[in-house]
Amino acid sequence: MENSKSLRTWLDDFKLSHPLVIAGPCSAETEEQVMEIARELKDSDVSIFRAGIWKPRTRPGGFEGVGEIGLKWLQKAKAETGLLMAVEVANEAHVKSALEHDIDVLWIGARTTVNPFAVQEIADALKGTDKIVLVKNPVNPDLSLWLGGVERLYNAGIKKLGVIHRGFSTYEKTKYRNIPEWQIAIELQSRFPDLPLICDPSHITGRRDMILEVSQQALDLNYDGLIIETHNDPEHAWSDAAQQVTPDALKQIFIDLRIRKMTD
Ligand code: PEP
Ligand code: MN
Repeated sequence: MENSKSLRTWLDDFKLSHPLVIAGPCSAETEEQVMEIARELKDSDVSIFRAGIWKPRTRPGGFEGVGEIGLKWLQKAKAETGLLMAVEVANEAHVKSALEHDIDVLWIGARTTVNPFAVQEIADALKGTDKIVLVKNPVNPDLSLWLGGVERLYNAGIKKLGVIHRGFSTYEKTKYRNIPEWQIAIELQSRFPDLPLICDPSHITGRRDMILEVSQQALDLNYDGLIIETHNDPEHAWSDAAQQVTPDALKQIFIDLRIRKMTD
């Protein structure tokens, strides 16, 4: 993968004077929930709305996502709010239905980045499109595997790329849900300074009271953006309830981070 300025042109197209902000629920649950959160995030610093439709759960038996019907809700939210829509894709079928429903941004989850076959299948299914694709770090602290995922997309002709740092699994109990290992992201940033780097404080911390602190650390390290799970009723969220914030809390985080949108 060349270290080309073209990697960040998509980000520059947002014409932001602050980091890119992606926000929305861990999972789309109902049409009303999606619409309510999207309406509250419209006219804020948020540029892209996220919602998981197919949820890769560590253990079976949990909520596994609403599936394709959720894509219709996202289309409706996009038509009403103008926010770009982002979903997680883990295989070719997901990519196909996301493309059919005009989803703007696809992200590859941490449990998928570890699997080169799955990433290659996604890359092949995206050939010829000009979607924005964001690659989360793999669950294990392996920079090559992370970069390898990005390269598979790049080699398939996808040039609107970025990476999401969501922390790494460890058997050890720490204050984080997934330890940041900042040095891995910093090495990636120094090797590919034009590859947009986005921090996911929600999955790093696993707790809403630490989102501000980790977001601030990321911005101090010159990250290009933040992806923050945001829910209208976080405590009753169907997945990742402990780490989601309300839209009002998210707006307060922006104030505290002194993120300001350019008004032109
Ligand atoms: C998510 O973004 O909701 C998610 C499942 O994240 P990760 O792949 O980082 O665990
Ligand atoms: Mn989540």
